[in-house]
Amino acid sequence: MSGFVGRGRHDVVTADEMTSVEDHLDALLDLLPQTDPIELRVLDSVGLVLAEDVVSRVSLPAFPNSAMDGYAVVASDLSDASIGQPVQLPVIGEIAAGDSDIPQISPGRCVRIMTGAPIPVGADTVVPVETTSGEHDRVSFHRPYTPGSNVRRVGEDLAPGQPLVAAGRRITPADVALLANAGQVRVPCNPPPRVVVLATGDELVPADQTPGPGQIRDGNGPMIAALVRQAGATPFSGGIVRDDRKALMYALDSNLGHADLVVCTGGASAGTRDLLPEVIGALGEVTTAKVAMQPGMPQILGRVRDVPIVGLPGNPVSAFVSFEVFVRPALRTMQGRRDVARPRVRAEVTETLTSPPYKRSFLRVRLAHTEGRWTASSTGGQGSHLVSSIALADGLAIIPEDVTTVEPGTQVDVQLLVD
Ligand code: AMP
Ligand code: MG
Repeated sequence: MSGFVGRGRHDVVTADEMTSVEDHLDALLDLLPQTDPIELRVLDSVGLVLAEDVVSRVSLPAFPNSAMDGYAVVASDLSDASIGQPVQLPVIGEIAAGDSDIPQISPGRCVRIMTGAPIPVGADTVVPVETTSGEHDRVSFHRPYTPGSNVRRVGEDLAPGQPLVAAGRRITPADVALLANAGQVRVPCNPPPRVVVLATGDELVPADQTPGPGQIRDGNGPMIAALVRQAGATPFSGGIVRDDRKALMYALDSNLGHADLVVCTGGASAGTRDLLPEVIGALGEVTTAKVAMQPGMPQILGRVRDVPIVGLPGNPVSAFVSFEVFVRPALRTMQGRRDVARPRVRAEVTETLTSPPYKRSFLRVRLAHTEGRWTASSTGGQGSHLVSSIALADGLAIIPEDVTTVEPGTQVDVQLLVD
């Protein structure tokens, strides 16, 4: 492959110099450490990823019970029942949910029964109270019932040996319900990765301060920390670090002890203050890459004392997109998630989209579902500094490397920004 990309003299890169998105992601995945599972109480496991398959040891329901408030009967007693000639049966008792002293039933008798109460031995059917009439001790039935009606059968929800929750799944509140119902007290989970977030740049002030001349508030630090949290990991803010060798070295060195991954933003490109590769290289190993993507071309990968370090470009949109393309899959992999990538949809573009040659573009789009199909519309300007455009986006439309123009009505892949 040959050719040039870029829009200006300083931006010109030959296509051969670039690394593919997949190769860069693979290089990051190769740096990731293995983590050991931890046992957690089911209640504390929500949001974490299950480390091993959990299989049911029990049946649910554990005993046959009533699905309705009504009468437990022998179905064959009612085979001739009709509105004109109801069948009348004596009521020999009452069973509520939680009762353990259950009367037996013989043909010609019935028992008042509540939802969730055990079905008495001898009965095979529950008739809903609303369809009956009568007094306290005698009740009339007006139609026949198929045996088994309104009875919850043993094991119909869950049988012993059946999978409860599969390894690699992020545990949901519904999984917690299932695990609790099945009597699972503890579950093996992968611990959330600890991610140190460093925002580098001489121009940055904390978001709660008023910037002086030439300064800007640090948006990337809070953004990356929020993305990390959303990805199921635990962010630690390492604050703002000056474009200074000693400051960068100290920030990295002092944070490695409590990090499973370090994510830096800024200082990744070719400016005179872009010192991050040099500093990581001095402490450990580093590679810089020009990844064939837009936004987000300059990327840094490193490892110091077995801790992987990712350096994302400083432009907020570039940092955001790079996080989605590289860091989120890495964090999901570290957590042992089966679904490493977020879901994608095919959507029809509503306007002409353009993309530079040899690069994969990730364009911020809003999605709409109309008349059974998804459409994708640009959130507006695609400049890498336009933070408001990320907030508007539902997804990132992916324009492949060999496509430079997408006409309205064409289908593209859109990577969703929600799970
Ligand atoms: P850099 O990658 O350091 O060359 O930064 C590229 C652009 O992103 C510059 O306009 C920076 O001011 C901006 N930038 C870098 N870091 C941040 C940050 N933490 N928050 C907001 N903008 C940033
Ligand atoms: Mg900078």
